Amino acid sequence: MIVDDQYYDLIIIGTGAGGGTIAAKIAPTGKKILILERGNFLPKEDENSNATEVFRKERYRAHEQWYDSSGEPFRPQTNYWVGGNTKLYGAALLRMRERDFEHVKHQDGISPEWPLKYPDFEPYYTEAEKLYDVHGKQGDDPTEPQRSEAYPYPPVSHEARMQSVCDRISKQGLHPFYLPLGLKLSEDDPTKNGCTRCKTCDGFPCKIDAKADAEVEGIIPALKFPHVTIKTEAKVVCLHTSPSGKEVKTVEAEIGGQSYLFFGDMVVLSCGAVNSAALLLRSANELHPNGLANSSDLVGRNFMKQLMTAMVQLSPPLNPTVFQKTICVHDFYWGEPEFPYPMGHIQNTGNILQDMIIKEAPPFLSLLATLMPGFGLRQLASHSIGWWLQTEDLPEPNNRVRVLGDKLYLDYTPNNLEAHDRLIYRWMDVLKVVDQTTVENSVFGRGIYPRSETPLEVVANQSGTCRFGSDPTTSVLDINCRTHDLDNLYVVDASFFPSSSAVSPALTIIANALRVGDHLIERLN
Ligand SMILES: Cc1cc2nc3c(=O)[nH]c(=O)nc-3n(C[C@H](O)[C@H](O)[C@H](O)COP(=O)(O)OP(=O)(O)OC[C@H]3O[C@@H](n4cnc5c(N)ncnc54)[C@H](O)[C@@H]3O)c2cc1C
Ligand code: SF4
Repeated sequence: MIVDDQYYDLIIIGTGAGGGTIAAKIAPTGKKILILERGNFLPKEDENSNATEVFRKERYRAHEQWYDSSGEPFRPQTNYWVGGNTKLYGAALLRMRERDFEHVKHQDGISPEWPLKYPDFEPYYTEAEKLYDVHGKQGDDPTEPQRSEAYPYPPVSHEARMQSVCDRISKQGLHPFYLPLGLKLSEDDPTKNGCTRCKTCDGFPCKIDAKADAEVEGIIPALKFPHVTIKTEAKVVCLHTSPSGKEVKTVEAEIGGQSYLFFGDMVVLSCGAVNSAALLLRSANELHPNGLANSSDLVGRNFMKQLMTAMVQLSPPLNPTVFQKTICVHDFYWGEPEFPYPMGHIQNTGNILQDMIIKEAPPFLSLLATLMPGFGLRQLASHSIGWWLQTEDLPEPNNRVRVLGDKLYLDYTPNNLEAHDRLIYRWMDVLKVVDQTTVENSVFGRGIYPRSETPLEVVANQSGTCRFGSDPTTSVLDINCRTHDLDNLYVVDASFFPSSSAVSPALTIIANALRVGDHLIERLN
């Protein structure tokens, strides 16, 4: 064991939406900060935008095995890089709605209220949108929460085909709006360097750092300060407590096959909802036999990942769109008269590319693609528009992360399925009308809508495994995201969510990291 001879004010573990953001927030204080990240900097290379490399060969996906509740191994769709999962995310950055912070009755149960409400998060959402270059337009989203300021940047425009789809959705009395996106894009002034609106964004890394991810917006700015150090390929394996058991004394990491011990006053854990819970459980000791911060027995429980379906709108008109991820629809977010329960969120996926189809596409489309190789694949891709449908899954204590020896188990039984099915069928009806009103002849005749629900391995929107709250018997973290049990240990990734909402989680994780950052700055001073 190598004992590091430095003493840090703060050790941050993980560099995703939570860890990367809090690093940027605290770095200017002059405090001595150590960042430990199990991944490396993602290389800038031609393969970044190669669909075969990224989707079929899964070049950037973690080589790891987790196990389902029956002991079957699976490879989680997660990414270990500086910037975490935001290196490959779609940069859709949405605020949760005011009601998402409240006790909400769903068809299949209750979504619990948060200990803090939307007004507590609003200033931090505003700060987060500025930090992550969010483009959007206020006023079109029928469920839009109150905002103290307009979006920092204008919305990302629809290309012609997407505008036509958008118009046809509106004609049905719905309210599609511009999907808020975190990009370094200047549509008014193309001479400015930045986002080129390319066709490989969602699910791909950005070779020119124009995607607002946690490396670009968090870690790189933090490392400009001389007292901030990062150690990459440093996998944290245990948090050791002091003899009293009341605080974390040292952080143990594996670097280059060696074990290292690091000392710090404060420790911020941000390994993602699954890995943070696993690390706390693996750090069990005599004083904390069930794992660190686990006096409530809630560490790892209430794991959520949202119900997600990828739907392909395969329809007669050609889709020549280069950057298609621009439309969002919330008309069914809180349900509709025939189904007065929340149904969920709809947004475009990134472009459906020929080389992605066999790997990623819904089974029916993959089958079609297999039967129509070459020319058929290209045709399928060029007539397709992708949609993500997301419904809130409800926290359930038996949906949980467990560790047994070296193995990580993810027990997950989806719930709230009827609400999700409603959303799927409702959206298919909308797309049928869109396609029926688009008059054009083609080999496909009329639209078809193959879809695939995401399997357990898709843990992109994971959350909930260390929920925050004011009661130490019903939550792991206090309202500042400090563990109830250990005085100097904080968790700022998606673990803290008491409920998942149906919007994508990153902006809420970022806003919360900024909020906790303010608290920590005060405490460190
Ligand atoms: C393909 C894809 C598309 C997505 N698109 C969107 C989107 O458009 N909008 C949106 O809101 N969300 C999106 N998400 C989800 C979003 O990326 C996550 O919600 C967000 O990144 C979670 O942030 P986090 O800080 O909780 O964890 P992560 O971003 O997962 O960061 C965790 C970090 O901890 C590191 N780490 C893990 N274990 C250890 C350890 N033991 N020691 C040291 N380091 C460790 C990891 O390498 C990683 O850097 C997407 C995700 C994926 C995969
Ligand atoms: S669309 Fe813009 S941000 Fe996304 S990968 Fe392309 S250049 Fe980068």
